[in-house]
Amino acid sequence: MVATEPKAQPKERWTASWKHLYDEVVTTGLCTGCAGCVVVCPHSVLSYDDKNGVYKPWQNEDSYGGPADCSHGDKACTTCTRACPRFGSWESEIDEFMFGRARKPEELSGIYKDVVLARATDPILHEVGQDGGLVSAMLVYALEHDLIDAALVSYLEGDGTTWKAIPGVARTREDVIASAGSRYTYSANTMAYLDLEKSEERIALVGMSCQSSSPPAMKQRKAGKVARRISLNIGLLCSKTFDDAIFEELFEAKYGLKKSEMKKMNIKGVFQIWMKNGDYHEVPLKECHAWTREGCKMCPDFAAEHADISTGGIGAFNDWTLTIVRTDAGRDLMARLVEDGWIETRPGDDDPGAIALMHKLAAKSRKRWPEFAVEAPRRLGK
Ligand SMILES: Cc1cc2nc3c(=O)[nH]c(=O)nc-3n(C[C@H](O)[C@H](O)[C@H](O)COP(=O)(O)OP(=O)(O)OC[C@H]3O[C@@H](n4cnc5c(N)ncnc54)[C@H](O)[C@@H]3O)c2cc1C
Repeated sequence: MVATEPKAQPKERWTASWKHLYDEVVTTGLCTGCAGCVVVCPHSVLSYDDKNGVYKPWQNEDSYGGPADCSHGDKACTTCTRACPRFGSWESEIDEFMFGRARKPEELSGIYKDVVLARATDPILHEVGQDGGLVSAMLVYALEHDLIDAALVSYLEGDGTTWKAIPGVARTREDVIASAGSRYTYSANTMAYLDLEKSEERIALVGMSCQSSSPPAMKQRKAGKVARRISLNIGLLCSKTFDDAIFEELFEAKYGLKKSEMKKMNIKGVFQIWMKNGDYHEVPLKECHAWTREGCKMCPDFAAEHADISTGGIGAFNDWTLTIVRTDAGRDLMARLVEDGWIETRPGDDDPGAIALMHKLAAKSRKRWPEFAVEAPRRLGK
């Protein structure tokens, strides 16, 4: 008998559209509000609701058929589902695309090349940074060395006294400094894509773990030009974000802390709050859980597993950024920053507790991914 080569299977056609996204992600609790679907929509029929803690894509009822109905019909455009980092087998698809293989179950914090501790050598960038100021140093370096044209980041609205985190574009050192530090409410930085100039072709995205899975999902599933423009993907480790209402309903109501008087906040086992008058307060995290934003409750990704570089603040050293380098592009950028004296690094092994804690928190987040979504229908060829 002559052995025959197995016939190549025809590639399944991707036919999933907004209705599928709506049913599988938007209304089931899987939607994190990353806004990937909104910014890729070629017909601009999706908008974004970021009021009263909602943070979800939305189909305008007046102009179109209502929330579940895309005016382009169920069988029309598929771009939104291609951009969604929670639709279908998103995790293994993106892993294959980025790393050439799926994550092994024991790789709780995703696939990576290096873990280091890093901090900016520039005293201002170090000072304004939440941890080591690494993210700000990377952005300023990339802008000033013509590696990127702009970055999608988060600012505080207005004069900052409302503590409302909003997406925005950073184009200069001053912009990056103004956007530095962490806010623990949600900011869909991806949305700032819509404010870019046409000429701004090389973009960095800074985003929570969910947001940083969106560009590689778009690339892998060929969702159009947005992903092509995002050339640097910086992720922030994250176990959750809180509803904006936490300021009034907990911090002010129980502790008398007015948000207009707050200077800085951090989470290190407790919610730490520094006030403008120099006072310091700690709020137990247990008390904050009731204000966990809905979009975070099923998110399985603590470690921003699909960023070029993921950054966090856990560990023994307060003013260093725990840095997980995942891609060649991330490694090249880190090497340039070290070589040019913009950052200093030390081995991750200097703080083994931080790495162990990252894996522990990653394992905890992975447990949130609901049973109904594990074998999510692929919506291919249907
Ligand atoms: C909501 C949230 C939760 C986090 N949870 C954890 C955690 O549980 N464990 C952990 O180790 N690390 C967590 N981090 C990451 C950590 O707080 C730092 O952002 C990270 O270590 C980088 O520090 P840096 O000094 O290098 O960054 P910086 O130089 O200070 O730059 C921070 C960047 O983050 C952007 N940013 C700030 N707030 C937001 C926001 N709400 N949404 C989107 N972008 C924002 C800023 O615009 C800036 O570009 C969290 C960050 C955020 C925003």
